[in-house]
Amino acid sequence: MADRMSFWAWGLESEEPTDAARAALAQDLSQRYGTEVTARPVPDLADAEMRAPRISAPDALAGFCFDDTYERARHAYGAHFTDRTRAFNLDFPNPPDLVAHPRSEAELEAVLGWCHEEGHAVVPYGGGSSVVWGVDPPEGVDACVTIALDRLDKVLEVDATSRAARIQAGVFGPALESQLKASGHTLRHFPQSFRFSTLGGWIATRSGGHYATNHTHIDDFVESVRMLTPQGWWESRRLPGSGAGPSPDRMVIGSEGILGIITEAWMRIQARPTFRATAGVVFDSWAAGTEAVRHIVQAKLWPANLRILDPSEAQRAAGLDGTQALVIIAFESADLPQDANIWAAVGLARDCGGHIPDENVVVDNGTGAPTGHEGPVGEWRRNFIGVDPGTATSLGLLADTFETAITWDRWPEFDATVRAEMGKVLGEVCQQGELSCRFTHVYPDGPAPYYTWSGMGRQGSEIGMWQEVKSAANEVVVKAGGTVTHHHAVGRMHRPGAYDLQRPELFAESLRAVKRTLDPKGILNAGVLIDP
Ligand SMILES: Cc1cc2nc3c(=O)[nH]c(=O)nc-3n(C[C@H](O)[C@H](O)[C@H](O)COP(=O)(O)OP(=O)(O)OC[C@H]3O[C@@H](n4cnc5c(N)ncnc54)[C@H](O)[C@@H]3O)c2cc1C
Repeated sequence: MADRMSFWAWGLESEEPTDAARAALAQDLSQRYGTEVTARPVPDLADAEMRAPRISAPDALAGFCFDDTYERARHAYGAHFTDRTRAFNLDFPNPPDLVAHPRSEAELEAVLGWCHEEGHAVVPYGGGSSVVWGVDPPEGVDACVTIALDRLDKVLEVDATSRAARIQAGVFGPALESQLKASGHTLRHFPQSFRFSTLGGWIATRSGGHYATNHTHIDDFVESVRMLTPQGWWESRRLPGSGAGPSPDRMVIGSEGILGIITEAWMRIQARPTFRATAGVVFDSWAAGTEAVRHIVQAKLWPANLRILDPSEAQRAAGLDGTQALVIIAFESADLPQDANIWAAVGLARDCGGHIPDENVVVDNGTGAPTGHEGPVGEWRRNFIGVDPGTATSLGLLADTFETAITWDRWPEFDATVRAEMGKVLGEVCQQGELSCRFTHVYPDGPAPYYTWSGMGRQGSEIGMWQEVKSAANEVVVKAGGTVTHHHAVGRMHRPGAYDLQRPELFAESLRAVKRTLDPKGILNAGVLIDP
């Protein structure tokens, strides 16, 4: 049988953590936290008890709609810690009744038209890597059909003159890049979930790629979008820029599946880079390092990477000693050598107190050899790419991340407040809670800090304990002036008490009016962004 996505772990079935790996981690946690941790065996989906499907597909749709246990379990959740925990526990109280995999726009029209006519709830589904409960079937509906776009997975056209490509929404990152590579191009959008997420999901959630400055958000690459709504097609005109009123694409990018289903987009593509330069600069303090980052981004050098890891993160992910922060600087270009840029950025970092010997600044002028694969920068890169499939699931360890953005003038106070409040709640809820921070993206007017936290909870109570910490995180971030999400999206997780407070109420009213126009029966992704 072909290797399928795991129904509970991050990745393919063949990559699921083994019982032996889980037992070893359980022993390690027992020793580290002085508590008895037992590893239940990896679950067998055949043991899951699931409500029978409440609807069946009409004959015309039966060739691409499925209601077997695997399809319904795999599409019941996204990829958050809580999703993995529920799926591991075979806890499926509200799976989709049917999962459709349309192979063409005509099949998509047929299934969405049927759902609209019958009033069935619909969840658009890309790769299911949502970490904000964006693909869970809504509660309290009579029936739910998840529409997965994975069979619409082709690069349909490349316009090499304008450097743009027409691409179907269901294509996953690696397949997208390998199709573009044939013509020497790249989209150059690499979220950490790249392997298991899709173009349509990126557009629907306004995803952030791993480049830290300048063009890195999916927003920057969208030239036009085609989307099917219950009221018909919405397609914008291909234009490099337009001043004609509010942008229709702005309405679609970030709409998180509540307005329609994105089927394809013209995307701005780029020549593959060959010139590269990298440096890892060490700082004796977090504050000095963040100041260096501010100076570099405000000098408008636009490094591809400009990431600072605080001392805890630099120790864990890059092998430093736990007292120093690490700033990773990298440049790349398809056209121009990057020596001048890297030395200018390193100069600014040194002016702010950074240490790096000259020989650790690596420059590759066009041989295409990978740079930055040695030392702490290489160590960080390997950790970043190698996402753990979820070995700790159900072992009682609580672990999550939250990401935000804040202007530079408020950053130091914001960070101090977040650390103090999170320290309190982690102390109350978990044993030996830890919090660390890095910047994933930086702008001339402020950074996008990404906090990672963990602590030992009680086996079987992970979700309730996680909720206590998460509620505190949402509250502190929004009250201290940040955004509840910089690139993970809103979904259902970030709405109450967070996104709902952050956005202007008249904007919410306007969004509701747009949704009423495009989706008058409210079938699409109810509960995401606005009330059902
Ligand atoms: C390990 C890990 C690392 C991650 N790293 C990053 C990161 O670096 N940057 C980042 O931005 N995010 C990251 N994420 C979050 C997630 O990968 C992104 O939100 C991603 O854009 C979702 O894409 P997807 O195809 O998996 O969409 P899904 O998870 O399937 O769906 C996400 C949302 O988009 C809607 N949707 C999906 N496809 C369509 C469509 N064709 N039309 C309309 N609506 C649609 C869904 O209804 C849902 O609301 C990470 C997640 C994980 C698990």
